[in-house]
Amino acid sequence: MIYMDNAATTRTAPEVVQAMLPYFSENYGNPSAVYSLGSAGKKAINGARRAIASVLGAKQEEIFFTAGGSEADNWALKSVAEAYSGKGKHIITTKIEHHAILHTCEYLEKNGFEVTYLGVGRDGVVDIGELEAAIRPDTILISIMFANNEIGTIEPIEEIGAMAQKHGILFHTDAVQAFGHLPVRVDELHIDMLSASGHKFGGPKGAGFLYVRTGVKLRSFLHGGAQERDRRAGTENVPGIVGLGAAAAKAAETMAERAAREEQIRDHLIRRIESEIPYCRLNGHRTKRLPGNVNFSFRFVEGESVLIMLDMKGICGSSGSACTSGALDPSHVLLAIGLNEEEAHGSLRLSLSEENTLEEADFVVEELKKIVARLREMSPLYEDFLKYGEPGIK
Ligand SMILES: *Cc1c(COP(=O)(O)O)cnc(C)c1O
Repeated sequence: MIYMDNAATTRTAPEVVQAMLPYFSENYGNPSAVYSLGSAGKKAINGARRAIASVLGAKQEEIFFTAGGSEADNWALKSVAEAYSGKGKHIITTKIEHHAILHTCEYLEKNGFEVTYLGVGRDGVVDIGELEAAIRPDTILISIMFANNEIGTIEPIEEIGAMAQKHGILFHTDAVQAFGHLPVRVDELHIDMLSASGHKFGGPKGAGFLYVRTGVKLRSFLHGGAQERDRRAGTENVPGIVGLGAAAAKAAETMAERAAREEQIRDHLIRRIESEIPYCRLNGHRTKRLPGNVNFSFRFVEGESVLIMLDMKGICGSSGSACTSGALDPSHVLLAIGLNEEEAHGSLRLSLSEENTLEEADFVVEELKKIVARLREMSPLYEDFLKYGEPGIK
């Protein structure tokens, strides 16, 4: 099997699983308990908190554990909305956010908030001038993702953070695709809140965190016990949090090496696909791009059909994001960067990890060439195109 869907989820690293195991079977005590079986769990949670804080250049008490990226996104937006509605009810985000942000914004709109959804350029980058123009006296939050999960574009986070700071507005970033893959330092980038998720960087599913800068008002997300400094009730997911911390530490240590390796395979894939498959287009920014992201649109084919045929060859990829596959709606991200519906339906994302090889990349390209050619042979659109041509396409 060739796994190239690491933006959907990653394999939990074996050493991360090893670090987690004792917290199921030996140190299973409740971290709130007074006896030592419980305090082992508590210590491990604080160790994970320290590890994550150190990667971000943050303080330990600024890290709040959650059940993943979606919860962290929901919490950040709903908490700011509730705690700062006295100042205003306007939020700025983008059209290319993950649904965890977009659907939360829609929910807030139903509850009296106004949301501006910034567009992006062909390459998926937010325009700083447009952002500044959207700022109003009643704007309470700017939430813009660090890097896009579908097209891999990395946003100008430092400039966005500086802009938010200049206007005295809180800045949240969904860094689920970036944390563990790119250097993320909250002070240098002027980030006030940040979401991340373990299973996107070699940690377990169902464990993530929200970073909240000291001084930002944070409302409780779950009411109950006093866990997470009274903000997020419920007995902690100790093994999950331990795995999250171990994965964060490991990712920080190996980041430069991993990124270089993934970029080499990414660029090899991009070069070969562009030169060997006609009528394709690279989606996302060519250089401001996640090290492991490849996203192409192929004209005259359905991305879903490409995926099924790749799967028959043991290759796992994705068309659109995992959260939208299964639904027939074209990806909102691809529409936002200016693709038409046909181009958006014909997209393929391959997302790499350090485990992928150049040999795998070559095998994928060879299979992809055959698959796209075969699907085009069966396409009436392609047949028409060959007969009559189409303005604007050579
Ligand atoms: C995966 C993802 C999420 C959701 O994270 P979960 O841990 O799966 O809830 C949010 N935002 C982005 C950009 C993602 O890629």
